[in-house]
Amino acid sequence: MPLPVVAIIGRPNVGKSTLVNRLAGGRDAIVHDEPGVTRDRTYREAYWSDREFQVVDTGGLVFADDTEFLPLIREQAMLAMAEASVAILVVDGQAGINAADESIAEWLRQQKVPVLLAVNKCESVGLGNAQAGEFWGLGLGEPMPISSVHGSGTGDLLDRVIDYFPAKENDQAEAAASVAIIGRPNVGKSSLLNAFVGEGRAIVSPIAGTTRDAIDTLVERDGKTYRLIDTAGIRRKRSIDYGPEFFGINRAFKAIRRSDVVLLVIDALDGVTDQDQKLAGRIEEDGRACIIVVNKWDAVDKDSGTIYEVEKELRARLYFLDWAPMIFISAHTGQRVEKILGLVDVAVVQHQRRVTTSVINEVIEEAVSWQSPPANRQGKQGKIYYGTQVTSAPPTIALFVNEPKYFGEGYRRYVERQFRQGLGFNGTPLRLIWRGKRQREAERTLNRATRVK
Ligand code: GDP
Ligand code: GDP
Repeated sequence: MPLPVVAIIGRPNVGKSTLVNRLAGGRDAIVHDEPGVTRDRTYREAYWSDREFQVVDTGGLVFADDTEFLPLIREQAMLAMAEASVAILVVDGQAGINAADESIAEWLRQQKVPVLLAVNKCESVGLGNAQAGEFWGLGLGEPMPISSVHGSGTGDLLDRVIDYFPAKENDQAEAAASVAIIGRPNVGKSSLLNAFVGEGRAIVSPIAGTTRDAIDTLVERDGKTYRLIDTAGIRRKRSIDYGPEFFGINRAFKAIRRSDVVLLVIDALDGVTDQDQKLAGRIEEDGRACIIVVNKWDAVDKDSGTIYEVEKELRARLYFLDWAPMIFISAHTGQRVEKILGLVDVAVVQHQRRVTTSVINEVIEEAVSWQSPPANRQGKQGKIYYGTQVTSAPPTIALFVNEPKYFGEGYRRYVERQFRQGLGFNGTPLRLIWRGKRQREAERTLNRATRVK
């Protein structure tokens, strides 16, 4: 199956090439020389989350002035649109709406391809949203403020982009799970990878034609194949331009996005640092399953109680991953390394698990009968009508209630605990969405207003 294509469209100087460079990272351009196509277009490969795609820039044309470019850009844009899964219209947030943007938008509205509206040059924290807001007027749905130079907003944009891609062919069948090995430099990621590879058969991932930031290794164990995403090698080819911190953490973030399960490697000698917390926070935000792997256990002075004390200490600093199992290992001696993939298997199943509506409502009934929702000062009481699982990976449960604001943090956490106690979900984040009546109506109206087809 050819990779999905994302067409970048917009008048000159809005920052299209800058955006393409950001999306494709440092990858080289590939020029497709197809018969029957009047002009070579330049494709760049990119990926986000677990999707690979191609970005085609319709620009790169120099126009004498704004009034003349439309026919030309149309020709290029038409060709790109013919094969695109989604188009991104780029506009300049600092310049504001321009007649050329309006004509392109009008043309785009007549195309069959879905369009996302990226308002570029919105790096100003104070002004960005207001600058973007002006572009609601183009009638292409929600304007998304981004800065191609700084990178802000581009992650949200890509999240929306990949939603429009056709479902993946079943290339996942080959690997039971994608497992990212994440951690600060020197915690022992490469040593762990080597320990895995030592016990199984490893082959370097055969993805044709791609150079990735992280090297994937396929490891086979008990008839199952795991794709290990390793960010360890990265330090060795660090770019001087960005500095170690910037590169390390962003690559780690990318690897997290591509994974099903993250092995968060912590150094037993250092404990949980601020950087570890940052990575942990991102794992939770991205909704990935996670195993906390405490490495270098061989180097710790210990007696029979140490493991419990250390676990308590580490968990106190990683409280937002309280659902993640923790395992103490030594990549050097191999202690407990063979248990890690077993935990991965469990986490994957829980992450993808679907629970029926009737079971969910049993848990809710039970929870409410033990502890009814609190009443506020006016004596108004929260009511949960029913709940249903809306998606998995991570499991996400919508709770339909009379008024979300009647449910404070304390009660929300209580309900989440009840779900975990009743249903498990070990190793995966669990999302609860509290939906009120008014909110549902507003969402429906908004959906209708912003649907682009
Ligand atoms: P294109 O003609 O649409 O491909 O635009 P370019 O990518 O060549 O960018 C046009 C100009 O806008 C260049 O001077 C860029 O440096 C600048 N530019 C691009 N993206 C941004 C951004 O996010 N913020 C700011 N302030 N300038 C940008
Ligand atoms: P990475 O930067 O996260 O890939 O870490 P490395 O795998 O390169 O390991 C960093 C350092 O920690 C090296 O000096 C390793 O020898 C050491 N190391 C890694 N795993 C262990 C372990 O299980 N026990 C001990 N004592 N040292 C370890």
